Amino acid sequence: MIYFIGAGPGAVDLITVKGKELLEKADLIIYAGSLVNPELLKYAKPDCVIMDSAKMTLEEVIAAMVPAAQSGKLVVRLHTGDPSIYGAHREQIDLLRSYGLDYEVVPGVSSFCAAAAALKAEYTLPNVSQSVIITRMEGRTPVPNRQKIADYAAHNATMVIFLSSSMLDKLQKELIAGGYKEDTPAAIVYKASWPDEKVCRCTVGTIAETAAKENITKTALITVGYFLGSEYDRSELYNPTFAHGYREADPSKLNLKPEVKA
Ligand code: SAH
Repeated sequence: MIYFIGAGPGAVDLITVKGKELLEKADLIIYAGSLVNPELLKYAKPDCVIMDSAKMTLEEVIAAMVPAAQSGKLVVRLHTGDPSIYGAHREQIDLLRSYGLDYEVVPGVSSFCAAAAALKAEYTLPNVSQSVIITRMEGRTPVPNRQKIADYAAHNATMVIFLSSSMLDKLQKELIAGGYKEDTPAAIVYKASWPDEKVCRCTVGTIAETAAKENITKTALITVGYFLGSEYDRSELYNPTFAHGYREADPSKLNLKPEVKA
């Protein structure tokens, strides 16, 4: 059996219980050494074979996995964050299927969730943004038409931009070209959940200079939007005037206040 496991954003205790238990049982672990916290490898058995995929090609990864899985070994492919976000696990899955091998995906905490936690922010504030756009600048991997930064900026929704820390001048220009005002709040979250995490609040117009000042050139997410501002509507779900399947409406509860200790 082959397990694609989300390692989480960095902090060792942010892997799932299921992910950790599989690491403990694995006979072969192939981990993404560029971003996965190597401390997670302490969970591996002493005789577990450990390989760093940062130094390998897709073909080499498959060549290591297939014979191990065919001889009944438990194989773990450890991806950073959640495998479904820029994880490149689909191409591995399709090749493994062509060898008739069975696999399972174990989700992980994506770095965009860890970034929100670091910011203590909610991406989906009522009347501010009800959508989160996860995207990236075009690099060596092309971005399809109508999915460019400027196309998305036009929506004024919350944006989380991956894989773009080395192109922040261009990112900033594209965000503004797409419709964000220069003073729209933004934040750079470097190494969310790692001990050396940094949170830099800025505006769309100062993303590049803020990163330069803080020496941030990789392992960062850029978040953009008024979810970083101070105005929003309260939720209907917890509003006493609003009824739903689990609760009757009771406007008198609008006056309910906690007992505050002096
Ligand atoms: N699957 C991963 C993303 C892999 S792409 C996930 O779900 O998070 C790699 C990019 O993710 C990096 O270039 C960076 O933009 C972002 N990233 C990964 N871990 C990060 C972290 N702890 N803090 C900030 N950004 C991170």
